[in-house]
Amino acid sequence: MATLPALHHWCASGDGAQSEYGNLAGFGDRGDPIGQTGRRGKTERPVVPETSRRRERGQRNGSGSFGHGRNSDRSPLPRRSSLPDPSNRAPLPESATELPPLPAIFWQTVDAGLHEADVTLAPEARLAIDRHVRLLLAWNTVINLTALRTPEQIARNHVLDSLICVDALRDLGSASSLLDIGSGAGFPGLPLVVTLPAARAALVDSIGKKARFLGVAAAQVVEALAIDALEPPNITALAERAEDLGQQPNQRASWDLVTARAVGTVAEVAELGLPLTSRGGHVVCWKLDSGDGGLQREIAAARRICQAAGGGEPRMLILAAAERVGLPGHCLIAIEKRRETPDRYPRPAAERRRAPLLS
Ligand code: SAM
Repeated sequence: MATLPALHHWCASGDGAQSEYGNLAGFGDRGDPIGQTGRRGKTERPVVPETSRRRERGQRNGSGSFGHGRNSDRSPLPRRSSLPDPSNRAPLPESATELPPLPAIFWQTVDAGLHEADVTLAPEARLAIDRHVRLLLAWNTVINLTALRTPEQIARNHVLDSLICVDALRDLGSASSLLDIGSGAGFPGLPLVVTLPAARAALVDSIGKKARFLGVAAAQVVEALAIDALEPPNITALAERAEDLGQQPNQRASWDLVTARAVGTVAEVAELGLPLTSRGGHVVCWKLDSGDGGLQREIAAARRICQAAGGGEPRMLILAAAERVGLPGHCLIAIEKRRETPDRYPRPAAERRRAPLLS
């Protein structure tokens, strides 16, 4: 089995690539997406970084010069208005059936890993995942959804990483409704909805363009499941911050399983996730145990907020198949929702930034 490539920077965000499992054991290390969303979430960065856009402009004009300066009328470069308008580009595909099939390596990698993890995919679930990934590959060439580009990387680090824990999640109890916080390109949420399966799901991301992709992918997934399943799931994509959602009465305490991968520390995910979780349900974070004690410290630091927000002790679930499928150290942290969450949680982003851990 191939080993895992360096697990840094595979999740693109509006802020550029975010380190993911490289920073999973301690998202606090370098400022995490959750903590900064309050400030950054309002403005989306350009999809194409400014430097590459400038380079592209220079190339289009056969010029190596990128400067406009004040006397831009005298610049050899054409005026901005004569450049092609990016909004004129072809619309992004909304149907996976018009896209090329996935190369064989994708399903070879997924199938080998699922075999190791003893997870079986129903034919309609397979079709749904196929459509999700075809759309992701197409959209990712235009919109920065994930820093992982090859079908093999997506197979292992996104699809398998989402699915090798299916048995562990089933053992936690009911998972008929699932909400994925910071779903990004749809992981782990979408593959889980179709495999568990869940009857109702919400994929939440604060960045509009990601939520738009999630909506398109979810529609394709539902269509694929409808081919065979008696009742396809209801999947909603929400362009919202989890902290805002957690204050909405119709969302509070209404999800069996709340998942989050590469979104924040255990404490942060607990504070965002527990208000949304129904009693007896679970918040589950995808984490990397790099063996240096960092994850254990992160779990210990989360105890206070878990308790305050109505949760039990955070528990590490070791995934027996992780190493065998080339994802060594990948594990889950599960927090059971035991009591009603007091209204004050989740706290507003600014307050959480000031005091990430309760004192
Ligand atoms: N879960 C996906 C994965 O593992 O591939 C994406 C991970 S990416 C590093 C983090 C995502 O969480 C980004 O898409 C970001 O927009 C989103 N995010 C961060 N804080 C959030 C919040 N408070 N509410 C909703 N989405 C959030």
